[in-house]
Amino acid sequence: MKKNGYIDSGVKSIRLMHEAEPKMFRKYCIFVLVHGLSWTIQVVATQLFFDTAQNFYEGRAKVWFLIFTLLCMIGSYALTQIMNGVDNCFANIYFLAIQKHNNLKIFKKIDELDCVQFESTKKLDMINKAVSGSNSTAWVGFTLIDVFLFYTTYFFSMSIYLFRLKPVLCVCILIVFIPCYLTDLISIKKFRTLEDKSAPIRRESEYYEKYASDIKETRMLGVTEHFKKLFCLKLNKLNDMIYQTQRYKKMLQIKMNLMQVAGYGLIIILTMHYVMENDISVGAFAAVFSSIGSLFGFMSEVITERIGWASENVGNVQNFFEFLNEDLKQKKIVYKADSDSIELKNVSFRYPSAESEALKDVNLKIRSGETIAVIGINGSGKSTLCKLLLGLYKPTKGDISFGDNLKNDSKNLNASAVFQNFCKYKISLKENICISNVDSEINSDAFRAFCGKNGINVDRFDCGEDTILSREFGGTELSGGQWQKIAIARAIFRDSPLVILDEPTAAIDPLEEKKLYNKFLEICEGKTAVIVSHRLSSVQIADRIIVMDNGSIIEDGTHEELLALDGLYSKMYHLQKETYIFS
Ligand code: ADP
Ligand code: MG
Repeated sequence: MKKNGYIDSGVKSIRLMHEAEPKMFRKYCIFVLVHGLSWTIQVVATQLFFDTAQNFYEGRAKVWFLIFTLLCMIGSYALTQIMNGVDNCFANIYFLAIQKHNNLKIFKKIDELDCVQFESTKKLDMINKAVSGSNSTAWVGFTLIDVFLFYTTYFFSMSIYLFRLKPVLCVCILIVFIPCYLTDLISIKKFRTLEDKSAPIRRESEYYEKYASDIKETRMLGVTEHFKKLFCLKLNKLNDMIYQTQRYKKMLQIKMNLMQVAGYGLIIILTMHYVMENDISVGAFAAVFSSIGSLFGFMSEVITERIGWASENVGNVQNFFEFLNEDLKQKKIVYKADSDSIELKNVSFRYPSAESEALKDVNLKIRSGETIAVIGINGSGKSTLCKLLLGLYKPTKGDISFGDNLKNDSKNLNASAVFQNFCKYKISLKENICISNVDSEINSDAFRAFCGKNGINVDRFDCGEDTILSREFGGTELSGGQWQKIAIARAIFRDSPLVILDEPTAAIDPLEEKKLYNKFLEICEGKTAVIVSHRLSSVQIADRIIVMDNGSIIEDGTHEELLALDGLYSKMYHLQKETYIFS
């Protein structure tokens, strides 16, 4: 990582904190500053009280002044405690506000991403890293503010105090601080190396643990013992590495602590010496004595916990900002005026991480209101074609244009679709369906009628349309078939001119699928509909059937035309006819 990466990430983190909540940012800075100062005020108040006590004992101070200085000292201790609580509590509340702000930024960026980017493992990794980096960003920002406004204020004001008392005391602290800081840097580096080395071993051991506890296949194969052995082997290696590093760290820590104790002792001895020589007052001795513990405490806290943690997490922060600064040039959807068809001209498509094209030189025209069925074996490119027809993916080569009737906004088509892995939202039945058209208002009766038309009987649900579709939230769990009906109803409710079903029916039998597709096309009367299946019995009713093979359209025509062609469709049809009884 570049050195200026630390500074750059730090500045950006603080700027983001300010952008999230400027008022809270200012308040937090003030709280931290007062908190830092309160520790030194405490030291000065302690000295004042002990000096007054000595003066009082020698008859040079009045009792009311002694009581006043006592109250001042108690007040300064109370102030430190109060500021500590306020600081921590406010940081937690402020963190939530920053987290929300950062998440909204990530959501916005994800929304700007082309859908095809989600097919790239590199981009998915980047998103995951950005999400985990978003929280680190806030804490790195807090750490920097604390370092500059709390620790620096405290150390600086204490240095002035000690310097004014005796410059040599200030030098003693520096002598302890520098080796402690270096020791810690070494241990951080050691831990980072351990993390890099142990990550693959940890992943391997996790896999073996998973395989060893698999109650189905592993037990059936009788290899549980084998995986247990491999798991133990990896775990031992991992533990050994952790032990070595921990031992190294602990030894360093012991040395650091000894150094601190030596520094601590040296300062006490020096101050005692100065008291005896009458160079400093008894009050100053008491103040130094009572504050030296916190001084060294803060010193190791800022080095070990705060700066150490921030430098370990600066990589995460960089991931977050890199993702936010990603240049996303999206290809726009091309609409053709005076046209109501979808037209693909020499379209080819390649997935970001794939070596070969998933679609090759596809030419296709779908007229408005047409019902198209797409068939082909697994991997022939059916789903990819659907995603291009929905405008989710843009062609790598060739052109695709859409009729004006499909216009929604510059980014989206007015279309709806149900895929194999459709969403099963853990919300109410009504919301599950109406979510595709959130602006619409539908009353209970109309909703019931709509569901009825789509083969869903609302009365069968415990709480009617308000039934939550998840047992987790006290609702009902649905079968695969019921979910499919809901997903299809959701797509239809959107009331868009283009609807695509990409095999959402894989979990049900061919006869049921045929019935569902028939019903779907009946409801979609007048819309452009595309249905995908590898079961030929379901697709005969379509206006046109497209047969795909290895990313290309190899046949295109009605059921009868394709049978007459005696090509792949006819071959598949006769093969499946022997397997299924068509109704
Ligand atoms: P179908 O829907 O007909 O089963 P797909 O359109 O899903 O076929 O896939 C077409 C081809 O593209 C296949 O060779 C498949 O391996 C490949 N493919 C699908 N998704 C991805 C992806 N995310 N990354 C790389 N290749 C993919
Ligand atoms: Mg598919």
